[in-house]
Order: sequence, then C-alpha cells, then structure tokens
Amino acid sequence: MAFGYHGRYLRIDVSTGHAEHVPLRGELLRQYIGGSGLGTRLLIDENAATADPVSPQAPIVFAFSPLVGTPLTTSAKFAVVCRSPLTELINDALAGSGFAIAAKACGCDAVVVVGRAREWSVLIIEDGAAHLEPAEDLRGDTCSVAEGKLRAKLGPQYRIATIGPGGERGVRFATISHDGRHAGRGGTGAVLGSKNIKAIAVRGTHQCEWAHPHELIELSRDLSERSFGPATAKYRELGTATNLLTLNRFGALPTRNFQRATFDQASRFAPAALGAAHARVRASCVACTIGCEHLYAVDGAPVRAEYESLFALGSLCGVGDTTAVLRASRLCDELGIDTISAGGTIAFAMECVERGILGERWLTFGSGDAVLKAIELIGRREGIGDLLADGSRRAAMVLGHGSMAFAPQVKGLEIPGYEPRALQTMALGFAVGARGADHNRSGAYEVDFSDKVDRRHATVDSVRHAIDTEDRAALMDSLILCKFLRGVFTDFYAESAELLQAVTGWDVTAGELRDTARRIIAGKREFNLRAGWTPQEDTLPERFLNRPLPDDPAAVLTAEGLRELVTEYHRQRGWATGE
Ligand code: SF4
Repeated sequence: MAFGYHGRYLRIDVSTGHAEHVPLRGELLRQYIGGSGLGTRLLIDENAATADPVSPQAPIVFAFSPLVGTPLTTSAKFAVVCRSPLTELINDALAGSGFAIAAKACGCDAVVVVGRAREWSVLIIEDGAAHLEPAEDLRGDTCSVAEGKLRAKLGPQYRIATIGPGGERGVRFATISHDGRHAGRGGTGAVLGSKNIKAIAVRGTHQCEWAHPHELIELSRDLSERSFGPATAKYRELGTATNLLTLNRFGALPTRNFQRATFDQASRFAPAALGAAHARVRASCVACTIGCEHLYAVDGAPVRAEYESLFALGSLCGVGDTTAVLRASRLCDELGIDTISAGGTIAFAMECVERGILGERWLTFGSGDAVLKAIELIGRREGIGDLLADGSRRAAMVLGHGSMAFAPQVKGLEIPGYEPRALQTMALGFAVGARGADHNRSGAYEVDFSDKVDRRHATVDSVRHAIDTEDRAALMDSLILCKFLRGVFTDFYAESAELLQAVTGWDVTAGELRDTARRIIAGKREFNLRAGWTPQEDTLPERFLNRPLPDDPAAVLTAEGLRELVTEYHRQRGWATGE
C-alpha cells in the first residue's frame, strides 16, 4: 500500500450497526487520489446512481485524501459525496476542519454510511470501530448546540459533524457542519438526516507514514511561505466579502433574482464598511496559513461573512441591511441549510410574489425581516417554507405560470454569485457542471476577468479555458487543497505531483495528474448518465438567454451561442454525441 493511505474504507450499515473494513486497491487510489475523486468512484461502485437519495440504500461517502494529516497548508479537508436530493445527480461538498484529520486517524481513507437507524442516533467511530448512541435529546438542536452538547458529553478529543433542523426535516439543500464549516451544497444534510443520523463523532490514533518525510516538510514550509504572498493577500486582508464590490463594478452582481446585475447598496458590504458597522475578527480552517475568514459581530457574536452568503441573502434578495444579512447567514448556518440555495430560492419566491404567482405578500424584495422569516420557515418546513425547502426548481414546477423561466438554477442547484450574461465563460461552466451551477467546480469566472476572453462575447475559444479551470478544480478537490491556494502555484500540475510523490512515494508526473483530473470529471459524468442525466440539461434558464442584461445592453447570451459552447465542450471532452 502507498504511503499516505490506510488502503481501506469503513462501510457502516446503520440499519444493523454492522461495520466492516473494505480494502482499497492501490491502483484505484492512484487513479482517483481521494476527496471528490475517491468519493465519486466509491459512489459509482455502490450503485448509488439509481437509488432514491433519501432512501436507506442510498450511500453517503466521507472521503479523505493522502494529504490529510500532513503539514501541507489547507489540506485538512474532507469531501462528502452522495446523490443529491436537490438535483438527483452527483454531489460532492467539501469542508475544512479537524474532522478530516480525526476521521482519517480512525484508520480508513473513507467512511461509507448506508441504511437507516431505527431511532435518531449519533454514529460514533473510534479507531475503526463504530457504534450508535441515541440522539433523541439532540432533536431540533441547531448545529452548534448539538456539537457543543456532544463535545461536553464525549470529551474534547472527538471531532463532531452534525446536521441541524434543516437536515432533520429533509430540506433538500441541508448541510453537514463541523466547527462552523459546512459541506454546504446539494443537500448532504438531508441524506444524513434520512438515515436518522444527527451527528458523527470521530476520534482515532492511526497515523499514516509518508514516503519522504524530510522532503515533505521542506515542501510544506515552502508552500506555507508562499501562501503569505500576494496571490492570497486579498483573502487574508479583506476576505471574500470584497468580491461583492468587484462584481458590482463589473455589472456582474446578481441582484433581485438576477433581474439586475448592479446593486445600489453594494457599498455597504465593502469590508471597510462592514468593519465600521460590526467589530471584525479573523479566523481560519485548521492547518491553514491563509486565514480567509473574516467574522463580523452581530448581536454580540461573530458571523462569518463570505461573498456567496452576502450576495445570496443580500443583493439577490435586494437587502442592503448588513445586520439583517449577517443574521440571515448565521440563521442558515444554525439551521444547517445552504446559504446560496436558501437565498436563491427566497429571491425566486419574492419575484413570484411580485408577479402575482405566489400570495405571500410579506415576502418582498428588500425586506431583511422577510428573508429571516423565510429561512426560519424553510429550516422547519413550515407554511410556505415547506415548498421552498425543495429548492427553486421544484417550487417552480408546483407554482407554474412560466416561473421555471426565472427559477435561478441549473439542474436544480441554485446559481452562485456570478451573472452569466456578463461572465459568459462562467455561463458555460454553470451549464455543464456535473452537480449543477457551481463556482467551486468551475473557476471559469477567473477566465472572464482575465484578458484571455471577451467576457460578454464568449467564443468557442473560451471552452478550453473553462475545461482547464474545471480540471484543476477536480484535482484540488481530490488532493485535497483549498482553492484559495491556486494562485500560489507557478506550475500547478508539476508542483502537485511533487507533493503527492513526497507523501505517497508514487512516481507520479504532471501529465499523469492531468489525466487523473479528466478521469475524475468523467467519473462524475458516468454517475450522472446512470442517474438519468441527458445532454439537454446542460443549459441555463430562459431568463439568461436571448435578452440583454437590463443594466448592460451589451451583455447578451443567445440560446444558439450557448448551445455552440456546450457542444464544443462535449466535443473537447470526447463526448461528441453529448453522451
Ligand atoms: S483559505 Fe480560507 S477556506 Fe481555504 S483553508 Fe484557509 S481559511 Fe479555509
């Protein structure tokens, strides 16, 4: 077995409590590495593509990687991979935290959970042995309350991932949380909740050996030093909140459910303005030297202010009251629901109210109170929240009256904070994304902000750039390293190969890792084909096609133009027939 791995995964059936170690071949690990890649492969091999995502037979995979537990900066992350209850396609969500290190120290490279416990339970894994404990007393608890109670009961040496009320009630975009970080997108929390598992607590003592420890420590030191450089200065000094002003300046900030791309109250979200209104502290994930997290005090407690949450609960809903937006972000975190899908679905509902399609007259653009109330209702599936808890696509199917045209989603996943008409390479990235509209699996917005393309007139030349960002993201999510490190590398594939060689001892090359990235993308597609995906789903909602952006008449994306880009994407991927 290669260094850096345990060479096995732990498969637990929570219906029976049976746990077994399943060997992992070295060849398979080299082909898929870890994280998203390994999770995708295991999910395919578990025949998950045709199982109802919230049925007992549906597996959910927690996948680690050879870099987890090493001194490499930003490597303490895990991937949660499952069939999404929101999209019914593959879903891989990553979180950075000590949970990854402790879970890998249980002596396995992944944990696969199937079945449904007879009662609400906590799954406890200690050095490879697993058992269930009753969790009735945690029902209804928010993520942080449940985690705090379990830490007090079990002891500080356990790392605990929980779901909130959203996951308990099957909100289709519920999260899994640990230490304030979230495996956020696609409804991982609803899948775990469907198994009657409120939390997973892990602790272990199994450490992997590294092939070349001295070289690895040198490489880690070098990477950490470079992580203090200019490529990450923006994240360190300002945090991702600063993106909101940048997107607004480019006319690419989704506003009022994508009806506009500039927000007249954007300046309130500038880091300096946020800092003047709310006391600020900085934080970081475990084992990270960048520390992109900027927390702002609201009601006496800090709230993590990330661009995607600020846009989704702010400009997208027309809300400029920063206190309300930060409260809304905290409420999503506590209820265990994804801020992007929550904001997208609420903004969609607001437009439905505006158009007379939905009768909830309190749900209006610009009202922070309405956003807070809607999040509460979604998290508890009460009133209109029961419909919105299924996401904007399903809500549009129920509401009808042409509302699907402006439901802000691709394949069911709500669109992140990049206006597709103004950022057309990103539009392609959203359209072809395996888990739906996604800025973490395609970094094509970077291409749009470069001089490589005309961001408002994408051509087939844009396609290779979009593919390149998607491939790099797939590798980073499988190694696993934080995306905010990407600008630090001068030759990403060669340097990644060097890191992997030092950990595993493999004679891996840059060329091999390029092939690995493509294999992982192809694996996600293989899963989706088995799940019933068709090429026609690689598109955008009607709102974004054939009509200019109201505040930028030059930004027009035609249906034919997008179709050409998608066809060329399929061709360059070697999927010329779209299959
Ligand atoms: S850069 Fe930010 S998101 Fe990435 S590992 Fe560090 S703190 Fe976490």
